[in-house]
Amino acid sequence: MKKHNFSAGPCVLPQEVLKKASEAVINFNGLDLSLIEISHRSKDFIDVMENARSLAIELLGLEGKGYKALFLQGGASLEFLMVPYNLLEKKAAYLNTGTWSSKAIKEAKVLGEVVEVASSKDANFNYIPKGYSIPADADYFHCTSNNTIFGTQIKDFPETNVPLVCDMSSDIFSRQLDFSKFGLIYAGAQKNMGPAGTTLVVIKEDILGKVSRSIPSMLDYKVHLDKDSMFNTPAVFAVYVSMLTLQWLKDLGGIAAIEKINEEKASLVYNEIDRNPLFKGFAATEDRSSMNVTFNLTDEAHKEAFDALWKGAGINGLNGHRSVGGYRASMYNALSVESAKVLVETMQELEKKVG
Ligand SMILES: *Cc1c(COP(=O)(O)O)cnc(C)c1O
Repeated sequence: MKKHNFSAGPCVLPQEVLKKASEAVINFNGLDLSLIEISHRSKDFIDVMENARSLAIELLGLEGKGYKALFLQGGASLEFLMVPYNLLEKKAAYLNTGTWSSKAIKEAKVLGEVVEVASSKDANFNYIPKGYSIPADADYFHCTSNNTIFGTQIKDFPETNVPLVCDMSSDIFSRQLDFSKFGLIYAGAQKNMGPAGTTLVVIKEDILGKVSRSIPSMLDYKVHLDKDSMFNTPAVFAVYVSMLTLQWLKDLGGIAAIEKINEEKASLVYNEIDRNPLFKGFAATEDRSSMNVTFNLTDEAHKEAFDALWKGAGINGLNGHRSVGGYRASMYNALSVESAKVLVETMQELEKKVG
């Protein structure tokens, strides 16, 4: 039986997507050729790219609103640099909510002035700062919607007149938001969309073209937009699997439908953390992520027993990140409610055993 996969990334994908992807690796579209051995300029692959791009825009509710989607390479980590390259003229504002925000800030500093509007570093990033102000003369404001490592998630995005740029790597397509509030959204595929190797970038085209520096072609969003995300050979397999996952999500009823399922999983696990005296949550209650649930044992003496229980129940990937310790249950779109229930049962088992 397939494991209950709580891996933080790369992570669980829908079983039917994996099946279709594996078939396409052998024989794609009945061509008697593999998806990964045909030209990316062939009609069959161009259709995949166009379909993936338009599904992303459609699922986010951004059709006809001036947005385009790209599937680039270099991970979300390269977007930390591409964003300032394309948008930072004098000064950018950043909210620091964790490891990934900090890395984005480091890259932006290479190219200009960065104002850190607030940080939760003082409490090992276990909360989302609020009540900060964004300088009106900033070229853009950057934030991380979901902090994969610490298990916090922004629930209310600030109102601002500067373009809103967001790293949504670990919660894109998981909950309904007014995505038209954002000027640029990026997300590495491997958290909620597909295999590692491609990054979705959704851009409102009118925010581009405002910096004076010359931009190397591969780092220039305009170059990629002009070439319909095919400036160079795209990550064909990663784009194809992302397309299948987006199609799966659309067939399921889109973000509105998956959001309900994600909320159900999150409340199952958080309720158990709050109820069970053997566990405590890491993130501040109002900022808890519905994607990555971080928690600890109240008594480390139970570690061996708990680890044996969840491993025995067929759970994979529950160990916390080294900067937080304890446990992290990553419950991306493709994780079933059933898997979340199995985790809750093992927590209850532990209580019966030692409680
Ligand atoms: C995983 C992750 C990244 C890094 O992504 P790469 O594709 O490995 O560069 C950046 N931001 C967030 C929020 C992440 O979860």
